[in-house]
Amino acid sequence: MPLTIGIHPSVARIVPPERLESELTDAAPEATVRVLDGHGDGRGGRDVTVDPASVGDSIDVVASFGFEEWFLDAGLEWVHVVRAGHDEFPVEALRDRGIALTNSSGIHGAPVGETVLGYMLQFAHGLHRYRDDQLDREWNPRPWGESFTLEGERVCVVGLGTLGRGIARRADAIGMSVTGVRRTPAPVDHVAERYSPENLREAVSDARFVVLAVPLNPATEGLFGAEELAAMREDAYLVNVARGPVADQSAVVDALKSESIAGAALDVTDPEPLPQESPLWGMENVVVTPHASAADEAFPERVADIVGENVRRLESGESLANQVV
Ligand code: NAD
Repeated sequence: MPLTIGIHPSVARIVPPERLESELTDAAPEATVRVLDGHGDGRGGRDVTVDPASVGDSIDVVASFGFEEWFLDAGLEWVHVVRAGHDEFPVEALRDRGIALTNSSGIHGAPVGETVLGYMLQFAHGLHRYRDDQLDREWNPRPWGESFTLEGERVCVVGLGTLGRGIARRADAIGMSVTGVRRTPAPVDHVAERYSPENLREAVSDARFVVLAVPLNPATEGLFGAEELAAMREDAYLVNVARGPVADQSAVVDALKSESIAGAALDVTDPEPLPQESPLWGMENVVVTPHASAADEAFPERVADIVGENVRRLESGESLANQVV
């Protein structure tokens, strides 16, 4: 029997479900693909839910942005997360029920790498401030000495997986000195020096930019707190493209307020969306983007390639790519 893949409407947080449906239909022609009916306030897919009664046991696979409890009891063979991080999915419960879980890791190196380069260029040349001034119709050259070039500056990338390597490659290409933090000492292309997580503070102490690119798990929650921020240079910038809780956000706010660091670019926050009352919104040395760094136009095609390959593997009895459980 060909597999039936249900696209959960929460994927609208990143991509129109119908666009993913069309890409999946091309990538897995032997499967039946349909978008599940959702309801809820939507907010770009974040809070959309699906009535399990409308699904019954009609699908074998669900491709989803978010998790719903009914995934555990719908007779699914496999759940695919359309994100690299699967921290919102109950790995043990899925394992107990024999449901495979795969993620979309491996496809975000280019879009996130370019976005991180963009944040660093903005800070180096004050472009974010000029944009603010432009909206106020102000011609306001910054004092001499505020801008610098990335060439020759050091970036420390914490986590050297797909994201970290995508960032390292681009930083190296522009002439930055790249260091990294990873759990094993093996060399990584474009990374001149590697530190173990135990030496995180030493690793960040001489960097102009520190970029967080690790998964969120019990070992990395709060990984970057007051002490790590204190270890950073006063003219250094923090970039978080991992998950909000990897950094202690109130410690980040304190460090920014006390000017013990120069600024921050946060693509991820804790919680998301960032609440209206957060002081981060109003800080001119902070760039907040709405968890958007990975969502480029090629995203649905790349996700569909992973799912299509796994449909082929499932049907030929091979182990799945990107399998978490
Ligand atoms: P990946 O699995 O390819 O790489 C993660 C790397 O982090 C691995 O090399 C792993 O060994 C390393 N790591 C884990 N714990 C570590 C620690 N304590 N210290 C140092 N290294 C550690 O995943 P990826 O695609 O690079 O994505 C990483 C995370 O970034 C995801 O889990 C997700 O949460 C987040 N992410 C965010 C976006 C976004 O839109 N901002 C996009 C993709 C991924």
